[in-house]
Amino acid sequence: MGLPKGPDAARVSSPTLQPPRPSFPRLCVFCGAASGNHPAFALAARELGAHLAHQHTELVYGGGNVGLMGEVANSILAHGGKAIGVITKLLETRELAHRGVQRLEVVETMHERKMLMATLADGFVALPGGLGTLDELFEILAWAQLGIHHKPVGLLNVDGFFDPVADLLAHVARTGFLRLDLPRTLVVKSEPEALLAGMRALQSTANRPAASTT
Ligand code: AMP
Repeated sequence: MGLPKGPDAARVSSPTLQPPRPSFPRLCVFCGAASGNHPAFALAARELGAHLAHQHTELVYGGGNVGLMGEVANSILAHGGKAIGVITKLLETRELAHRGVQRLEVVETMHERKMLMATLADGFVALPGGLGTLDELFEILAWAQLGIHHKPVGLLNVDGFFDPVADLLAHVARTGFLRLDLPRTLVVKSEPEALLAGMRALQSTANRPAASTT
């Protein structure tokens, strides 16, 4: 008996139309509530949003509809993806809470916000941003160092934005203050696709003790 043709063919083949299980079901993106002064930043945020949608990876982010936060959220939604915003009551108006996301969590404090974002996500990506972004990035690296999580962290190095951060971390390591195995936790790339591929490669080893060779 041959394979069904016409409408039946679609029915038989429908299981294969299921999206593949994403390697990162959810990624948390830290990024600016501003857009910066170079169009490359917004462009990169939109590219990341589109790439996450294509990977069937859900976005977890600060819940705003301003700056790069708005760019990445609007892009993933425009490409058929899903976003979870996590925002505080106080920032709901200041950062224009995004009303179009599939899920908006409104919490009391910044600490709750960070904790919930970190719990929901399977990895973290930082885009260019200001003090809030840097604070979130360093806290998530510090949590990795403490073993609070074992999730990879990626820097989308748009236009060399994160070069000084990478230099600072290298300096901290050189001077004997870093206890985190950075190469097993942090990836720095200038393109979303390469960044996510690098993070996928770290998924099983991120911030875990090196396998014993004895
Ligand atoms: P920014 O990178 O300064 O534009 O902020 C990006 C996001 O980080 C915003 O949603 C801020 O509310 C948030 N954020 C998280 N922690 C802090 C903090 N310690 N100081 C300022 N903003 C913060």
